[in-house]
Order: sequence, then structure tokens, then C-alpha cells
Amino acid sequence: MSKLNLVLFGPPGAGKGTQSAFLIERFGLVHLSTGDLLRAEIKAETELGLAAKELMDRGDLVPDHIVIGMIRNKIEAHHEAKGFIFDGFPRTKAQAEALDGMLNAKSEPIVAMLALEVPEQELVKRLLGRGATSGRSDDQDEAIIRNRIREYENKTAPLKDYYGAQGKFKGIDGVGSLGEITERLVKAIG
Ligand code: ADP
Repeated sequence: MSKLNLVLFGPPGAGKGTQSAFLIERFGLVHLSTGDLLRAEIKAETELGLAAKELMDRGDLVPDHIVIGMIRNKIEAHHEAKGFIFDGFPRTKAQAEALDGMLNAKSEPIVAMLALEVPEQELVKRLLGRGATSGRSDDQDEAIIRNRIREYENKTAPLKDYYGAQGKFKGIDGVGSLGEITERLVKAIG
């Protein structure tokens, strides 16, 4: 059976992590979030985590080779998966090309890029709200949040065209109740 490999896409605060939880359950997928993987490295105080923390605290992207290496290890560790949800990855064209290379070599390509669309003022509001309870320092400072959104617009948003050229881009309205947004995603998966 072909694998349901999905990219869940969108700016910081679009709700990728929250919606991933529903989709994993519904379709039996493995969740791969580079943000979560990096925070685990920070918590474990590894050398990689130490280097990444400085960049993440500023709202800058971590270098491509680091996140690509983490994703490669995880894909190789889950041959049995019915599919993966990539959350927060790819974030640059180099990452998208590397991911295509890994998955196409297994004849298990990305099936769709589900892009959650949320206006900037709503993103800032959500992230500051999350920062008040999550303890994530990159969610507590509006200047850092706006830098993350700029990084998204400059380096990551162009991936809509990358996946669009492959006929895989699906824009999803990311404003509404959690259940409504899940239903939109499920419909788009088809
Ligand atoms: P959010 O989507 O709210 O920004 P994430 O947990 O996805 O949260 O990412 C947090 C931070 O981790 C990013 O601001 C960035 O510094 C780093 N990061 C996560 N994924 C990547 C990636 N694929 N490439 C580069 N940096 C990443």
C-alpha cells in the first residue's frame, strides 16, 4: 500500500502541532516535528542542542544540514510507518529537495502539502498566548515572534510554489474552531 506522507505547512502559530495530533490518530501516522526534535536536543544538553538554542532563541532558522540529518535518522527508524506527517519541515528549498531525495529513493513521495493559512495579527496573538503558559522563550517576545514570521515569509513560504509545481499544494483556512480546521484538513487529504 502506498504511504500517506504529508507536509503540514504554515507560519509559526498556524496550529501545525495541534492539528498533527488529530491527523496522527485518524490516519495512524508518525509525527516528525523538527522543532520538537531540536527542543529534545536542548533538553538533553547535547552539543547540537547548544548550537541550535542560540539560533532558536533569536527566531532564526537552524542550518539545513542539521535538520536534514535529524529527519533522515527518523525516517530510517520508522520503516513500518503508514506514513509521516512532517511538521515544521521542510522550511527551505534545500530541505524540500533533500526530503524529496530521501522519499523518492524509497518510492514513497510526499502526497500533499497542507498549508494552514492564518493572518499575521492572529499569529502574533496566538503565539504570545502560548508563550504565557508554554515556557517557550521564543514565544514570549513580540520582536522574536515577528522575526520568525519574517524568516517564514522569506525562506519558507516560497515552498508553496515548490509543491504547487508538483501539483501537491493545498491551501487550508487555518482560522476557526479546532474541529472545523481538522475537518478541512481531512477533506483535503481526501
Ligand atoms: P514554530 O512553528 O512555532 O516556529 P517550531 O517548533 O516548528 O515552532 O520551531 C521552533 C524553532 O526551531 C524555529 O524558530 C527554528 O529556529 C527551529 N527550527 C525548527 N524546524 C526547523 C527547520 N526545519 N529548519 C530550520 N530551523 C528549524
